[in-house]
Amino acid sequence: MSERPAPTFHRAVVTGGAGFVGSHVCEALLRAGTAVVCVDDLSSGAAANVAHLVGDPGFGLVRADITQGPVPLGERAPRDVDLVLHLASPASPVDYLERPIETLDVGSVGTRHALELAQSCGARFVLASTSEVYGDPETHPQREDYWGHVNPVGPRSVYDEAKRFSEALTTAFRGDRGVDTGIVRIFNTYGPRMRGNDGRMVPTFVRQALAGEPLTVAGDGSQTRSVCYVDDLVEGILAFAASGHTGPMNLGNPEELSVAEVARDVLAATGSTAGTRHVDLPQDDPVRRRPDVSLAREVLGWRARTPWREGLARTVEWFREHDDTDAAAPAG
Ligand code: NAD
Repeated sequence: MSERPAPTFHRAVVTGGAGFVGSHVCEALLRAGTAVVCVDDLSSGAAANVAHLVGDPGFGLVRADITQGPVPLGERAPRDVDLVLHLASPASPVDYLERPIETLDVGSVGTRHALELAQSCGARFVLASTSEVYGDPETHPQREDYWGHVNPVGPRSVYDEAKRFSEALTTAFRGDRGVDTGIVRIFNTYGPRMRGNDGRMVPTFVRQALAGEPLTVAGDGSQTRSVCYVDDLVEGILAFAASGHTGPMNLGNPEELSVAEVARDVLAATGSTAGTRHVDLPQDDPVRRRPDVSLAREVLGWRARTPWREGLARTVEWFREHDDTDAAAPAG
């Protein structure tokens, strides 16, 4: 009988663990033998995303807003936390534009509370940052040493600047408090458990296609996106956590697809004949965004492996079975 390898971490706290990425992270940690405390205020996440994990003795869900005080770990708070994965933050344009102040709060005060938890437990801390720290980039593809091109007073600034502040705070806790920190910069990710009305490109297109509506393509659709399937991203996050690397490290799929191509593939994958409808480009919408993932390849031996059309097929299948959102939102 083959023995399961010892888990890299004993117990992880995942802030934002009931969200899209967080719920897949919780699942993967449990599979690897790591116990999980998921702390989430369910503002953009949902208990349903982790409902299947609740019976697992290694899993606990604590409903709390981490901006309100120290990160709570539940009634019988475990002492053996050795990893804090900080994912809590509105992440889609619809969510962060609806809650701009809360977005800045969770990036600043919330990140501070998560860092303080890691410090008090002597745990490794990993910040889920974003490609949005590069803003509308002037270089392609983006490497980690590019400082970015962000409009600090633009409509997306609440998210971009919150994450830039989070990165600075994380770096300060490493230098000033000796916390073992790491930063990953996540590029557009898609997959099951996204919400069809969250304004992000893939779920918006899939929802529209399944509803028989035309897909709303911003501008002429020639702007490109690189999209990573969620299982690949989660593998990268956990490998990064185990590596002890400080980052920042890009995680994403460098394959570039135009928004028009994505729309075409979604129509094909869903069998929709409703076609596309063009809408205005949102202000400060990046024209092009593509990760340079050389660092992740060198350090972790990681790369996104799921082909786009395969990931899309799994996503469509999930949406057919689960998603019932119908609110109209243009694709970002
Ligand atoms: P999501 O909205 O599905 O998940 C975020 C989770 O954080 C939600 O469950 C929400 O309820 C929770 N949350 C928000 N504010 C909170 C607070 N104050 N206290 C406790 N919980 C709070 O988004 P996601 O796509 O899963 O993103 C997860 C993380 O990854 C975010 O930090 C996001 O910035 C980052 N990221 C995601 C992508 C992507 O393409 N999905 C890209 C770049 C970065």
